[in-house]
Amino acid sequence: MLNSYLSDTIKTTPAYINKLRKLGIKTVKDFLFYFPRGYQDLSGLTTVAEIRTDEVNTLKGNIHSIVNIRTRTGKTLTKAIFGDETGRIEVVWFNQKYLKNMIRAGDSVLLSGKAKFAFGKMALMSPTYEPLKLDQLHTGRIVPVYHESEIITSKWIRSKIHPLIENSEKITDTLSSELKEKYQLIDLKDAIKIIHFPKNQPDLEAARKRLGFEEIFELQITALKNKWEWRRAAEKKGLTIRIEKDCLKEILDILPFKLTDAQQQSVVDILNDLKKPYPMMRLLEGDVGSGKTIVAALAAFNVIKNGYQVAIMAPTEVLAKQHFKSLMTLFAKFNIRVDFLAGSLTASEKKRIIMGLKTHTIDLIVGTHAIIQDKVDFANLALAIVDEQHRFGVKQRDILAGYGTPHLLSMTATPIPRTLAMTVYGDQDLTIIDELPPGRKEIITRIVPEIKRIDAYRWVENNILKGNQAYIICPLVEDSDAIEAKSATQEYERLRLVFPNLNLGLLHGRMKQSGKDDIMSKFVKNELHILISTTVIEVGIDVPNANIIMIEGAERFGLAQLHQLRGRVGRGKEQSYCFLFQSTAESRTDKSSSDQFSKNLTVTASGQISLAAVAAPASSPQKTNQQITDRLKAMVNHTSGFKLAEIDLELRGPGEVYGVRQSGIPDLKMASLSDIELIKLAREAAEFSLSSSIKPF
Ligand code: ADP
Ligand code: MG
Repeated sequence: MLNSYLSDTIKTTPAYINKLRKLGIKTVKDFLFYFPRGYQDLSGLTTVAEIRTDEVNTLKGNIHSIVNIRTRTGKTLTKAIFGDETGRIEVVWFNQKYLKNMIRAGDSVLLSGKAKFAFGKMALMSPTYEPLKLDQLHTGRIVPVYHESEIITSKWIRSKIHPLIENSEKITDTLSSELKEKYQLIDLKDAIKIIHFPKNQPDLEAARKRLGFEEIFELQITALKNKWEWRRAAEKKGLTIRIEKDCLKEILDILPFKLTDAQQQSVVDILNDLKKPYPMMRLLEGDVGSGKTIVAALAAFNVIKNGYQVAIMAPTEVLAKQHFKSLMTLFAKFNIRVDFLAGSLTASEKKRIIMGLKTHTIDLIVGTHAIIQDKVDFANLALAIVDEQHRFGVKQRDILAGYGTPHLLSMTATPIPRTLAMTVYGDQDLTIIDELPPGRKEIITRIVPEIKRIDAYRWVENNILKGNQAYIICPLVEDSDAIEAKSATQEYERLRLVFPNLNLGLLHGRMKQSGKDDIMSKFVKNELHILISTTVIEVGIDVPNANIIMIEGAERFGLAQLHQLRGRVGRGKEQSYCFLFQSTAESRTDKSSSDQFSKNLTVTASGQISLAAVAAPASSPQKTNQQITDRLKAMVNHTSGFKLAEIDLELRGPGEVYGVRQSGIPDLKMASLSDIELIKLAREAAEFSLSSSIKPF
């Protein structure tokens, strides 16, 4: 029964079955494991006499009359009179004329909805209704709310899961009784029943705890297995790397800056790992601009001085090229042979490099993931470094294992709090760089209303006249490179008219690699004043002379992504600016925030720019989604990626913040990744239950 197809077990139409299938729900079991995203507590009943306008009221009583009325604009209003022992109230539904056939005068019902005071009387607006029964599903209880999509509503899901819920009895538990007892967890079958139809809050909490625990526990088990297997794989190889103190001192001496404490600590962590008889698997996490590259470079340097090879991989060719160039410069004096490998190389170039890696005439190869995809053979690879690791999957790691399981250093700028990182990257040891190099000026961020757009363009122009450069980021077009490229191209054409005297460049994902390289190198050389780009420049690009970034359609980006983009500026000595534009129609007409901005940003007659460093403009266009406004305001008020991540987690939850596409963080169904206590327990439990079987060290 658990594995029966829903098409055979629930009464519905193919349209619904298809929709469910798209959500990955095919069987009864799948359906039972489709958990609510939240709950509405409608268990507290009120009476007509007690109705309040500021909250959802749940009422029990009778329908006295019900009629459909057509409005002058052609819409249908369904109006009913509802009453209980304390009084009567009008109920209004919009465009649901079928309700008149479902609810009859005289019916006993439960209604849940908000009340509004209009035309001198109170009315209950579009309430959820349910006939009074022994077992209420939709009102008068703690009501589960599911992710809704097109035709699938929470109400529909509740009514379809309810008859199936007893099948939970047959679910076999996944945790041992020992663990359940130790961590005071209820049985899986009970948790499933409760999660859909909780009778009270304590039950619901117990079910949540059980299911959340399980989710994290599974993640931890997988992570720990990965970690220990990685170690064991190379156990006997012993790629033990000495610390080459003198050489390191020599290279540190020629750096144009002193390492920050956090950078030094990171280097120490890594060098200590490299000494061990099993391969490192470490994640270096540091905010944009915190200087991860030099840490990686020093590790690479030390390994090469031990006589081994090193590979550095970046997610895009643009970024890989940049690393290649800076490492060439850095290592120029040290007799290290650096080369570059990526998809765009010609066949003969590739051949030469593949040969060089095989015969160890190349010490350091910098490139894209093509390095490990092109059947490259290393003479003796001892360290693989992966920049912006969230785009680097377990699969690639398996390939690396094929090269004798080298030490692995991953780097990410995704600011994930430590406990969270422990969960999602539980297979790696973690080093966090928590300080920026000294002397950085804080980037000034402003939300710019539409009517100040021209001023902002003039601001950009004035800065460019002073010798600086700017980025303009085009809106995110979900899931379509092609449309995104097209709209970026249009924006580019439009901006050429706005800035007729400046050199503009365009960069998007659909361009040929050679074209991208060309544009990037022109921008680096300051031959282009403004780079109009999609998010392809999101990661890693380092052009210190660029000090303004304008982001169009900013509300479409997550905070983490906005922060990454903003991190493209603020790298040089000049004061940097980030201007956020919204693409919503509302923002174009919002007056209050534009007034705010005009106070902050003024271009005087003489062309002088002044920007009062006042607090965030309190732009809160009424119609704009409050969450969007809060998010953009957070960008204005905070510069720390970690702080922003925290806020974003609060506003949107981990699933959305660290979408799978961006960071490999799973979209957990039940566990809260901010529940540190639960994470710790699950981690401990995973260590405990694996320790007897596979832990190698
Ligand atoms: P990210 O961590 O974002 O990869 P990068 O490694 O690109 O950061 O470094 C950002 C910039 O800061 C680079 O221009 C780099 O040369 C510079 N930098 C790195 N470490 C320091 C330091 N300790 N002091 C001053 N500048 C530094
Ligand atoms: Mg970087």
